[in-house]
Amino acid sequence: FKVPDIDNEPMRSYGPGSAERKGLEEVLAQMERDSPFEVPCIVNGKPVKSGKIVKQPIPSDHARYLSYYHEADQKIVSDAVDGALAAKEEWETLPWNDRAAIFLKAAELASGKYRYKLMAATMLGQGKNAWQAEIDAAAELSDFFRFGVKFVEELYSQQPPKNSPGAWNRVEYRALEGFVLAVSPFNFTAIGGNLPGVPALVGNVVLWKPSPAATYSNYIVYQLLEEAGVPPGVIQFVPGPPAEVVAQAISHPLFAGLHFTGSTAIFKRLWKDIAQNLDIYRSYPRIVGETGGKNFHVVHSSANVENAVFQSIRSAFEYQGQKCSALSRLYVSSSVWNTGGFKDKLLEQIAGIKIGSHTKFDNFMGPVINKPAFDKILSYIEKAKAAGGKTLIGGTGDDSVGYFVQPTVILTKDPKSVTMVEEVFGPVLTVYVFEDSDYDSTLDLIDSTSQYALTGSIFASNRKVLVETTNRLRNAAGNVYYNEKCTGAVVGQQPFGGARGSGTNDKAGSINIFYRFVSTRSIKEGF
Ligand code: GLU
Repeated sequence: FKVPDIDNEPMRSYGPGSAERKGLEEVLAQMERDSPFEVPCIVNGKPVKSGKIVKQPIPSDHARYLSYYHEADQKIVSDAVDGALAAKEEWETLPWNDRAAIFLKAAELASGKYRYKLMAATMLGQGKNAWQAEIDAAAELSDFFRFGVKFVEELYSQQPPKNSPGAWNRVEYRALEGFVLAVSPFNFTAIGGNLPGVPALVGNVVLWKPSPAATYSNYIVYQLLEEAGVPPGVIQFVPGPPAEVVAQAISHPLFAGLHFTGSTAIFKRLWKDIAQNLDIYRSYPRIVGETGGKNFHVVHSSANVENAVFQSIRSAFEYQGQKCSALSRLYVSSSVWNTGGFKDKLLEQIAGIKIGSHTKFDNFMGPVINKPAFDKILSYIEKAKAAGGKTLIGGTGDDSVGYFVQPTVILTKDPKSVTMVEEVFGPVLTVYVFEDSDYDSTLDLIDSTSQYALTGSIFASNRKVLVETTNRLRNAAGNVYYNEKCTGAVVGQQPFGGARGSGTNDKAGSINIFYRFVSTRSIKEGF
């Protein structure tokens, strides 16, 4: 069989008075009325309640909470691993077209029946506006499932190019021997679906620990996968406590792989813990992680100023800067910044940014995810000021009702100052203005001052500059954009991920990632 041609999920616009806005508003209102929702662990397709409750507050109104989940305890995790291993053989030996059909159906459910529910849970629970929720929970989630099927079809079709006379060589792409642990972040519901989805598509069984701050939307993703036909036990849903669930999972002899998105610090910690356990494992575990970023825009003197300003604002402040890919260090040529009017345009447009909860569809920004994030972001602003940075706009926050931080721009003369170097994960943009004649040495700074290498954009109308900058910054980013913002990689279009401290660069949304979760077997048959 052949998987039919596929395309990216079309975006809806949710314009005033549109049927789609009305549909989404109704689901949102209903969800607010019915919340908080109880979220159990799911083991072998059955809800399990530990009674150890953790609340998921609504970040724009933290007195309320969207859901409360039952934390997995040791017995639940151990039952989940045993159940997954018991479900393994049937799942991995299922004909590939059946697994494909399940995930194609999951894509349809994400783009249709579940769309507004997923979006509403993402808006309420993770503080996204309608557009950001559409990009994430509707479009990217269905794209991950739909394109995933296409990528696996392509992977399975790859066979050795040569046979020796009188023999037939072939390869088989087996699932890993054991189970995969998926640890997903709060900032993308789509990643919540993709982290267990990728290994499961190639026949693995998965223990999935969602982020505490995204439990409800991720639980809906679980329900969607179940409705699509993922059999009980294949994906086990085990929310928190994060450290304990993960520690227990990676202490199991049949731990076979980690699919992780989250902070660099936690990923490094896990890698070290896994190394400590190496002797107990049956196989070397596959370790796949997408972690932090300190993403840049560099604006050359030949750049189109209007465009560079527009793209920089979107890149830095959409979803409050809480994308791994978000712009956080901006290098601008002095002629563009001063005479070109970049500075004035930037500040004028930021001053017009509307910030508030999802209830108003024209809010460009919402709250940051929780109190620790709020405090951390404000403390970075203070550190930047103490280091001599000048706050050009913003710099304040208000957490009396929700965790709102103003879009903030800091101007620094020190390219190694704290907010030019460390990941803030919030709406804080630090600007460094360079003399036009220093463009080359500025590229060295971009390359050398950050431990990360996720995304970066080059703004120039001069083709030679684009080419030379790309060459000079060869290892500074896994995703490079010309005259476009450094966020918003699209599944099937821009494989996403970076190296250095940003991850293992196995490229979400591409065929590459699937190679990490198969164990290839070569078979030679003599005739
Ligand atoms: N893929 C997303 C983008 O390109 C970012 C994902 C993340 O934050 O981990 O903007």
